[in-house]
Amino acid sequence: METKLKLIRDDNVNLILENVGSETKPPLEPEQGIPKQWLPKFFRKMVQVICLPLVLLDFYAQKVARLIVRPPFKRVGQCKRRGNCCHYVVMKKSKGLMGVLEKFWATQINGFYFRNEKPVTYQEKQVYVMGCRYLQKDGSCGNYKLRPMICRQWPVIAHFGWPNILKGCGYEAKKTKVYYKMQGKS
Ligand code: SF4
Repeated sequence: METKLKLIRDDNVNLILENVGSETKPPLEPEQGIPKQWLPKFFRKMVQVICLPLVLLDFYAQKVARLIVRPPFKRVGQCKRRGNCCHYVVMKKSKGLMGVLEKFWATQINGFYFRNEKPVTYQEKQVYVMGCRYLQKDGSCGNYKLRPMICRQWPVIAHFGWPNILKGCGYEAKKTKVYYKMQGKS
């Protein structure tokens, strides 16, 4: 599969995102390079530290919710540190002020950068595909303790809907008893 694509376009985004899990080489950086963050580092860190209790609260609240309402899939396996999920972080495009704030937060606070200047269509939604400045060469996270919620949740095993796991990343979604009950096979 060709991953050395400089731009993510509508006609290749599905192919990339559905097959990138087994890639062993990183994609090229955006043509124009990775833009510098204009927000000072101390300010970014301060915001991340202030937000951390909320992120953790949200994360553990979701864990508790999963114990109460069991989802049809559970995550098994281990990260192979290929870094592919961090090379292609997908963010839905929002309109108006919300869109501006989300872009600001993603790029200036969370450390992501856009791989495509314009949004592309993925799963019938307009999305931006982003890389991450914190991803290390060995596939580890350079901001592990302060990483955002999206990274803590990944790979997403939704309560409803199909699990979102990159092929070959090391994780798999295993069907639980709830799944078979829902299928009427219990
Ligand atoms: S913050 Fe860490 S875990 Fe999240 S995308 Fe960046 S490198 Fe990956």
